[in-house]
Amino acid sequence: VFIVFEGGEGAGKSTQVDRLAEALRRVGREVVVTHEPGATPIGRGIRGLLLDHPADGGEELTPRAEALLYAADRAHHVASVVRPALEHGAVVISDRYVDSSLAYQGAGRTLPVEEVSWLSKWATGGLKPDLVVLLDLDPAVGLARAGRRGEADRLESESLAFHERVRYAFLDLASADPSRYLVLDATNSIDALAEGVLQRVRHLIPE
Ligand code: C5P
Repeated sequence: VFIVFEGGEGAGKSTQVDRLAEALRRVGREVVVTHEPGATPIGRGIRGLLLDHPADGGEELTPRAEALLYAADRAHHVASVVRPALEHGAVVISDRYVDSSLAYQGAGRTLPVEEVSWLSKWATGGLKPDLVVLLDLDPAVGLARAGRRGEADRLESESLAFHERVRYAFLDLASADPSRYLVLDATNSIDALAEGVLQRVRHLIPE
């Protein structure tokens, strides 16, 4: 079973990933927790190229190069972490996956979404999650939360309009395929969100 958490900045994905992993381990499931970008040693190198910019000399990544680096990270991540764990029978929980590229590189950077989708399909060999949990949050609130976490400099390089396009892209993806999505309001308490996720996951993973 492959479960993905998606959402904008400061939505609380990693907290909910950890809560779900704990709950599933308590009932004896083997769980592999992972994330994009940068879950493998090679991926960490790619993450550095993606997120530690401006690189030397102030050079900015161009949108297509950025999309290709996210796809390269994802291709390596799926082949070396996600697929082997699924084949082994583990529940895999990933913090971000294909939808992040559709939202950030597609809607955010305004690359054609069908092309970004095709690139991700190629990178993953078509592996789709069984469930995507979208933690939806007004980006003004999320950016303030993430800023308090010390990420303000990197995040301020994108406009609020960019983050709003990202938010609505995630919501559009969810409404196009409701059976595979759980959309939760990320302003709810951590406990309430964790309970909401668990209720939905119980249908997927009978105890
Ligand atoms: O989820 P995490 O905070 O590790 O993501 C790091 C950053 O990478 C996010 O702030 C997001 O802006 C960016 N990102 C992106 N495109 C993706 C995935 C992440 O721009 N496909």
